[in-house]
Amino acid sequence: VVAAKGAPGCDPGRTRDGQPIALLANIGSADELTGVAAEGVGLFRTEMLFQHHTVAPSPEEQIAAYSAVFREMSGRPVIVRTFDAGSDKPLPFLRDNQEPNPALGIRGLRVARRRSDILSTQLAAIAVAARESEAKVSVMAPMVTTVAEAASFAALCRDAGLATVGAMVEVPAAAVRAAELLQVVDFLSVGTNDLSQYAFAADRRSGELADLLDPWQPALLSLVALCAAAGAAVGRPVGVCGEAAADPAFAVVLAGLGVTSLSMAPRAIADIRAALAERSMDECRRAAQAALAAGDPAAARAAVG
Ligand code: PEP
Ligand code: MG
Repeated sequence: VVAAKGAPGCDPGRTRDGQPIALLANIGSADELTGVAAEGVGLFRTEMLFQHHTVAPSPEEQIAAYSAVFREMSGRPVIVRTFDAGSDKPLPFLRDNQEPNPALGIRGLRVARRRSDILSTQLAAIAVAARESEAKVSVMAPMVTTVAEAASFAALCRDAGLATVGAMVEVPAAAVRAAELLQVVDFLSVGTNDLSQYAFAADRRSGELADLLDPWQPALLSLVALCAAAGAAVGRPVGVCGEAAADPAFAVVLAGLGVTSLSMAPRAIADIRAALAERSMDECRRAAQAALAAGDPAAARAAVG
């Protein structure tokens, strides 16, 4: 991941001793990039563009929306996530009211089982917008569960002319097969919001289960560590794009686990940049080991200080 040269206010994230950790923005549209000092976009939630559409967006509408983001990010990386429809992000043009348990149903990449046209149209639109821009565009799929799914998504992307392909890790089955996923995709991006939901069998919107959804839970840290180690072993990027990346102490732990980029709400980037700049990579690694060794979230937080 390369930062734009000379762009104001978007110095790359670095530890005190100079290890780069790219600091990227989570966005839903180009408007959210106004005045943002990010090295790029780590999560472009494309479904947010069309959340009120009752018919599928046309290729032209999609190209215009993607181009607007790519123009803002000229010279910088943009990771476009294909539509994450379903469950907490229903799209009217894809709504299925029959599912008794939408979080465990046809959502994210699984929509392509029924509506492969939606995915192929979107990939073609992203490819057109990418070709017309100077942004460094890559694509990733939400809710990847098996290596076979990732492989068929990667093949579709490459056929559409999109060379750099990733998989989100949001399902524990994907995390435990991170090394195998990296044999078929170029990078991983860990979505801790859904990874917590599925690892702890706890609805991500449930305030009552907030203790289980705490990203400092040792089991969640272990799953992220698996992904980071798999990336480090083959020299491929592994980012984190869940809300947890915006917690300064947690960001230090993620850097120490070997995560190569952090993507977050744009307003959080300055604090994360400052937190990383205060720590050496060795200190980050020690923080990560201490958090992993802790018995519960409170102990993990206390161990990092
Ligand atoms: C996640 O699940 O952590 C994620 C980044 O995706 P979203 O919040 O859009 O589901
Ligand atoms: Mg998610």
